[in-house]
Amino acid sequence: MKIKGKTKLIGIFGDPVAQTLSPAMQNAAFESLGMDFVYVPFHVRPAELKAAVEAIRALGMPGVNITIPHKEKVIELLDGLDEDARAVGAVNTVVNREGKLTGYNTDGEGFLRSLAEDTGFNPQGKKIIILGAGGAARGILASVLNKKNKKNKKNKKPARVIVANRTFERAEGLVKEFNEKFKDLQVEAVELDEEALGPLLKEADLLVNATSIGMEGGQGGQGGHGPLSFIIEKLPGSAVVSDIVYKPIVTELIREAEQKGLTTHRGLGMLVGQGALSFELWTGQKAPVHVMRQAAFEALELQ
Ligand code: NAP
Repeated sequence: MKIKGKTKLIGIFGDPVAQTLSPAMQNAAFESLGMDFVYVPFHVRPAELKAAVEAIRALGMPGVNITIPHKEKVIELLDGLDEDARAVGAVNTVVNREGKLTGYNTDGEGFLRSLAEDTGFNPQGKKIIILGAGGAARGILASVLNKKNKKNKKNKKPARVIVANRTFERAEGLVKEFNEKFKDLQVEAVELDEEALGPLLKEADLLVNATSIGMEGGQGGQGGHGPLSFIIEKLPGSAVVSDIVYKPIVTELIREAEQKGLTTHRGLGMLVGQGALSFELWTGQKAPVHVMRQAAFEALELQ
């Protein structure tokens, strides 16, 4: 990669930010298309967020990614929000158009796009169970409910959507909020346990783990999936199983689903999907998804 006089700078603002896979993924994309862009991680502490956002304008950056803990706080510093970011209440991508900063959230749409690419799954008319009620679950839920097909404006709504969470009140709160926003499909909240979920799993078309259970070193125990151990055996053979946890690359949930012969979608897919959409927002060019996936995979293996 050669930095020249016209090289455009894109970055990611986070605290911490050192573990991010996005620079590997985005720089591989720029390089493969011969584009004169460079993507750099910036460790931005909360007290410096305002100055960092002003720098996007001052330095003429085409945009940035925003990650933890700034995804909500950044909103008040921007000039506008797109529909998904508004529904989720969080921004992961900022685009600078002649000094006007617009916030987007590509997590949910990236999830759906990679799910479609990897498994052919189309949510329309399907029964979907989402485990979790945190930031990632919000993004996925917003996209699942929001979407009219952007090209032909046809409604792509599922038949039924259920949110299950350990802290039931959090699932209830999320469902209430989204049912007020998206009135034509009422999402249901249930407890994340075998008694409540068992009968629902038998009819599921898609099961998404959007909790951090199964994450390496995270809650749920060193890559294990204790609270989810009843899930896979209850799903029908036709179900698609998606786990948004990408470290380890193959989670216990995915391993069990594959053993049962179910179609699976791994967390790396969503990571690449959201990055590909950000790339397209900044550059207006189609993202080289396979290059990005390979780069993210290699960077993850090195961690
Ligand atoms: P978050 O906002 O902190 O939410 C965490 C969720 O996990 C909550 O629903 C929480 O339930 C649940 N949870 C955590 N430990 C649990 C346990 N032991 N038993 C039952 N439920 C448990 O986190 P997030 O930002 O949504 O991220 C969730 C996961 O998705 C993380 O592993 C993250 O790395 C991954 N992620 C992946 C991508 C991708 O691109 N693939 C994107 C975003 C996030 P409570 O409400 O009861 O606490």
